[in-house]
Amino acid sequence: MGGEKEFAASAVDEKWGRIRARLQTEFGDATFNSWLKPLRVHDVRDGAVVLSVPTRFMRDWVKSHYADRIRDLWANEDEDIRAVKLVVPKPEKGVSAARGAPHNDPNAVASDISHRPVATSQSASPRPPSNATQDIGAPLDHRYTFENFVVGHSNELAHAAGRRGAESTSVQFNPLFLYGGVGLGKTHLMHAIAWHIRQQQPQRSVVYLSAEKFMYQFIRALRYKDTMSFKQQFRSVDVLMIDDVQFISGKESTQEEFFHTFNALVDFNRQVVISADRSPSDLEGIEERIRSRLGWGMVADLQPTDYELRLGILQSKCERLERAEVPLRVLEFLAHRITSNVRELEGALNRVVAYSTLVGRPIALELTQDVLQDLLRANDRRVTIEDIQRRVADYFNLRLSDMLAKRRAQSIVRPRQVAMYLAKQLTTRSLPEIGRKFGGRDHTTVLHAVRRIEELRQTDSSIAEDVDLLRRILEG
Ligand code: ADP
Ligand code: MG
Repeated sequence: MGGEKEFAASAVDEKWGRIRARLQTEFGDATFNSWLKPLRVHDVRDGAVVLSVPTRFMRDWVKSHYADRIRDLWANEDEDIRAVKLVVPKPEKGVSAARGAPHNDPNAVASDISHRPVATSQSASPRPPSNATQDIGAPLDHRYTFENFVVGHSNELAHAAGRRGAESTSVQFNPLFLYGGVGLGKTHLMHAIAWHIRQQQPQRSVVYLSAEKFMYQFIRALRYKDTMSFKQQFRSVDVLMIDDVQFISGKESTQEEFFHTFNALVDFNRQVVISADRSPSDLEGIEERIRSRLGWGMVADLQPTDYELRLGILQSKCERLERAEVPLRVLEFLAHRITSNVRELEGALNRVVAYSTLVGRPIALELTQDVLQDLLRANDRRVTIEDIQRRVADYFNLRLSDMLAKRRAQSIVRPRQVAMYLAKQLTTRSLPEIGRKFGGRDHTTVLHAVRRIEELRQTDSSIAEDVDLLRRILEG
């Protein structure tokens, strides 16, 4: 008897060994090591293989990403197998009480997956580990991982800081403040950090949400006179991530509450990660003490992308989606022409692919140009006054707010004039519009600036150089 059982067990092991090898080649080492290697065969019975996974979070992830493939591979090995189940072993006594512990689900630990016919598993982002965090946080996008984040010059620092924050088990800098223009990857990076911590340190509770949602919850708590539990919930997390914090500009009581929460967490040595569309010092409408506190930790920016990064992102996306049929020339064309931001770049690629599938024509340059006409035109002319102000301020080592302020120091006046000049040259805005964007100045001031820089370009070669360089940067 015993002999027979052993024989069966080793046959299972052999099959599992082959399946694992296959998974490793198909998904690559990184994925395999993080998600698939920890799986163990727990049982084989009634046409189902039962695999054990260490945590619920991993169970959900494996379930939504790899389960179908695992089931198919099993079916190849053994045609009786029609389903794969994932179970999380019950915690040993005394280990489970930690905040947000992944295995505090008393009985429903088994998760039934992948019965044929296959249900699509698109929507299944893993849940946050505990109910508390589930209520206050927002779900994470399963595509927004470090693996899928392409690193280039413009986002290198933010990426490194994010990784560091995600990998360390202690708080390295507080807060981690990531900022940059729209569509440059702030949310992607935040989710990547959250995923990484949840995966590597599942005992830490991570809450990610937008500043807007934070405010909404705060207001709701006020309305239901439930601010105590609001405070408690937020103050009991290990890692709090708030996206787009500029949203609370001008919202005084939300700011106040945010600041208290922030301070409480920092005092308890919990990690806070913040994103915004501009640097802490440029956050107008946010109280000075908060702004300055936000800049105490690590501040890292995501700058506008360069050509190489854009191309890299497109290539990585095609690889991921197995879109080998998109010719390199088309990718290069897109990377060259869609410079505004990554979201739009991805959107352009999707449109081209969708269109070509729809009309049954191969993806070529001409088709791309046809499909994207409007987008290409918009990208050609779109340099915004904000871009110009930001770029010029960076270039001359000033703050964005110096562009708008009334100060008349020569070291600020000249760059400001350069920015106004470029705004006139590179955008279709009128002089009064430009004036308004520069802290409510009169159109005659703008006109004066434009004339002055035109003059100086003839007589002062260093100004001429500055202007040309900035112009080239801005035109991508
Ligand atoms: P933001 O929050 O800064 O407005 P997102 O994080 O939402 O921008 O990014 C917009 C889109 O661009 C997302 O689909 C994101 O995955 C993608 N993206 C941005 N930067 C990168 C990058 N470096 N590598 C891969 N994808 C990126
Ligand atoms: Mg975002």
